[in-house]
Amino acid sequence: MKFTDLNVQGGIGANCSLCEIGPFKFVIDSGLHPKFAGSESLPKHEEIERFSLDFIILTHCHLDHLGSLPLLSRQQPDAPVILSYASSILARRMLSNSISVMKRQRTELNIPELPYYGRGDLTSLYDRFKTPPLHTPYRLEKNGEHIELTLHHAGHVAGAVSVSIKYKGNITFFTGDILFNDQRTLDGANLPKEPVDILVTETTRGSTEIPRNQSRESEIVRMLKTIHSTLAKQGSVLIPVFALGRMQEMLAILDEAFRKKAIPKVPVFCSGLGMDLVNHFHEISKNTNRVRFNRKVLRAIGARPLPKKIEPGRRPPMEGIFLVSSGMMVEKTPSYVLASGLLGESKNSILFVGYCDPSTPGGKLLEASRGDTFDFDALDVLQKIEAKVSKFDLSGHANRDELTAYAKKISPRAVILHHGDPEARDWFKQNLENEPFSIYDPEPLKTYDI
Ligand SMILES: [Zn+2]
Ligand SMILES: [Zn+2]
Repeated sequence: MKFTDLNVQGGIGANCSLCEIGPFKFVIDSGLHPKFAGSESLPKHEEIERFSLDFIILTHCHLDHLGSLPLLSRQQPDAPVILSYASSILARRMLSNSISVMKRQRTELNIPELPYYGRGDLTSLYDRFKTPPLHTPYRLEKNGEHIELTLHHAGHVAGAVSVSIKYKGNITFFTGDILFNDQRTLDGANLPKEPVDILVTETTRGSTEIPRNQSRESEIVRMLKTIHSTLAKQGSVLIPVFALGRMQEMLAILDEAFRKKAIPKVPVFCSGLGMDLVNHFHEISKNTNRVRFNRKVLRAIGARPLPKKIEPGRRPPMEGIFLVSSGMMVEKTPSYVLASGLLGESKNSILFVGYCDPSTPGGKLLEASRGDTFDFDALDVLQKIEAKVSKFDLSGHANRDELTAYAKKISPRAVILHHGDPEARDWFKQNLENEPFSIYDPEPLKTYDI
C-alpha cells in the first residue's frame, strides 16, 4: 500500500489519508482542523488533484474527519462516498451547521474565501453516498481486479466505523476513531479478530495514563459528586461538550442522575446543534440496537435552549447546568463565552469530559491553577480563576493499552500511527518497538510504500 497523510498540521487536526492499493486509489476522511480557520484548516487536497479517486470513505461525522468532504467530493465528482447509514444521516446536519459557522467566520475573521462550499455542493455529495450494511463485504471493481471493503462498528460516536480493505487476500485495517467500552447511548467497538497485513491505528490517548482504580463508571460518580456540591452552593456547572455524541451521552447520564436523585433537579441549558442532533440520534436508534437514545430525554430533564443574552465576562442571567459546545472551549463558541462569566466565582464549576488539545482555551485552562488570571483573548476579558475546574475521563477514544493489545492480537506486518499528538505517537513507538512488526509515524505529505 502507498500511504500519504494529507493532514498538513500533523497531530489530530484535519484528517485525510490518501491510499493506493493495487489499481485502487482512495481517500479516508476529509476533515477541517478545529483549531484553525480558512486555508490553514484544510487538508492538502492539491496532492489528490492529479488522481481520479475510485472511492472516498468517511469513518464518522466529527468535523475533523468530515468538514472538508464537500470540497474533495466536488474535485472528485465520480468517486462514490462510502459511509455507514447512521453517518449518512448525521453528516447532513453537521455539514449544514459547518456552512453557517464558515459564513460567520467570513465576517468575524475577515476570510473572504469562506464558506468553502454551499448547499448545492451538499446536494451533489449526498447523491454520491453509498451506505453498505456493517460487517458485510462491499465489492468494487476496476480493470478486471476487485477490492472488498467492510465497515465495522467502532463505538466512539453513533455511525463511527473502522474499515477493513481486502485486496488479493491481504487485509489493511483502519481503526478510525474507536472506543471499545460501551457508553450509555452506544455499544463499544465490534472489530474483526483475524490477522491483518497493515494496521492504521488512532493514537489519541497515547500520553494518557489511566490510574489503576479508575473506570468510566467511577469517573461518572466523581463527576456527579462535583455537580452535586456545586449546586448545593447555588453555583452553576458548565460542561463543554462536542455537539455530536458527547452531548447526547451527557444528557443520558444527567437524566439517569436526576431520576436516581443523585443530583437535585435544576434547569439544563443546551446549545442548538446538540439539541437538533438529539432528533437524529432518535431516528438512528430505531434502525439499530447499537445506538440507544430517545428524544424524550430532553423533555424528561427539562432541557432548554441556551438563551441568546449571554454576555462575555458577566454572570449568566440564570443558574443551572450548561451543556454546550465546543468541547475544547474554542474561542467565541458558547462554552468559551459562558466560561468567561462563570470562572470568576468560586461557587461555580467547569467540568471537562472529553479530549482537549493543549493549545486550545480548554487545554490551557486545565493547565492553569486557581488564583491565576485567565485571558479570554477573543472577548477582551481577563478573569481570575476562582471556579472549580476539573477533568473527568469519559473519553470517546480507546485507552492506549487496549489499542496495543488489539495490535498484538491481529499481528500485522506493519503499523501506521495516526490521529495523535507527537507525544502520544511516541508512547506507541516505545511500547511496540519489541513487537515483530515495523512501525511508521508518517510525516505529513510524504508517501510511504509499505
Ligand atoms: Zn471523532
Ligand atoms: Zn477524530
